[in-house]
Amino acid sequence: MKYCKKCLMPDTRPGITFMEDGVCAPCHNYEKQKTVDWNSRLEELKSLCDQYRGCNGKSYDCAIAVSGGKDSHFQVYVIKEIMKMNPVLLSTGCTDWTRTGQQNIQNIAEAFSCDVISIQPNPRVAKIMAKKAFVEIGSPTWYLDALIYAFPYRMAAQLGLKLLVYGENVNYTYGGKYNVETPSAKFQPLNDVVKPVWDKWLEDGQITEQELASAKQMTLEEYDASGLNAVYLSYFVPWDTHHNYEVARRFGFRHMEHEYRREGTLENYNQIDSIGYLLNQYLKYPKFGHASATEMASRWIRAGLATREEMIPQVKLYDKRLDQGIVDAFMQYTGMSAREFWTTMDKWYNPQLFYQDRDGVWHEKFEVGVGITDQKQNPLF
Ligand SMILES: [Zn+2]
Repeated sequence: MKYCKKCLMPDTRPGITFMEDGVCAPCHNYEKQKTVDWNSRLEELKSLCDQYRGCNGKSYDCAIAVSGGKDSHFQVYVIKEIMKMNPVLLSTGCTDWTRTGQQNIQNIAEAFSCDVISIQPNPRVAKIMAKKAFVEIGSPTWYLDALIYAFPYRMAAQLGLKLLVYGENVNYTYGGKYNVETPSAKFQPLNDVVKPVWDKWLEDGQITEQELASAKQMTLEEYDASGLNAVYLSYFVPWDTHHNYEVARRFGFRHMEHEYRREGTLENYNQIDSIGYLLNQYLKYPKFGHASATEMASRWIRAGLATREEMIPQVKLYDKRLDQGIVDAFMQYTGMSAREFWTTMDKWYNPQLFYQDRDGVWHEKFEVGVGITDQKQNPLF
C-alpha cells in the first residue's frame, strides 16, 4: 500500500494510477486544470449550447442529470443562468431521503425555475437489492447507482432531447477504464462504478429481468441510434467540490448540519440526500483502507484548503467510523440481524490491509499517509 505524496489517496483505490513522482493521477489532473485555457473551453461550451438552444421550439433544449446536491446546483447554474438554456432536470430518487435532501431537490427546481422529472425506484426491488448487493458484492447501493447511470440517458432519449449534461468525469478524476480528458460522457455507463453482474441478481428468482430493465444502462448501439450527446460539464468549466458548494449555497442549497451529524465524514455537504448511502462509502474502508474522509481530505489538500499533515489525524479518526444510525436503518430496512450484518461485513475486510484478532475484531495493518506497518501485536496484550 502506497500513499500519494501530495494527498492521502492510497494506491488501493480501484483504477487509480500514480506517476513516477509518487503523486496520484487525481492530483496531477487537478494541477493540470490550472494550465487549461478555460476561456476557450467556455467558448466550446457556448458553441455546443448554440447548437441545441431552441432545437425543440419552446420546449426543453437539453437535460441535466441531477441529484439535487451541490454539484447539481452548480450544473444548473452554469447551464441555465450562464448559458441561458432551457433544461429539464432528470433525477433518480432515493428510498430514504433526508429532509435536507428533499429540500435541496425542491430548491434546485425553484431557485432555477426548472421542471424535474424523477424516477421513484421500485421499492420492492430496491429493498431486495440493498441486501443482495451488500451480501454478494459489498455494494448495497448497486441498484440505485445503476439507475443513476441508466435513467437520465433513457429519459433524455425518450423525450427526444439530444444534449444531456452530467457533472464530473469520475474516471478522469480518479482514473479507471476511460480516463482520458474528454467532453463526451458516452462511455460513462461502462465506467465500472456499477459492476456488470446482472445475471447474479436473477439466480434465485426473486427479481425478474423486466424489473431490473429500468436500471440497465444504454448499450453503445442504443446510444448512437438515439443521437444523444452526453457531456461532462467538468470538461468545460473548472471543477472544484468546495467551490461548487459555495456557489450552490448562494442559490439556497442547504448543508445537513441542523438535521443530522453523520459519524465518519469530515463535512456535512457531500452526498447528503440519503443517510443509507454512506454505508456504501464506508465499505471502501474494509475493502481498500480508505473511505469518505480520505476522499474529501484529498480534495481539500489539492484545493489548498488544508495540508496533508492537518488531514492525517482527521482521516485516521473518521474513515473507520461507521455511523450507528446507518447500521440501525440498514438492518431495519433489510431485516438483517446485527449478527448477520457484522458477519457479512467480515467478508469485505481485505486481509492484506487488516487482521482479525481472536475475538473477531479487525485491526489496521497500515498507517494513514505512510502505508503498511504490519504491527501485528494483539492490542489487548
Ligand atoms: Zn494525490
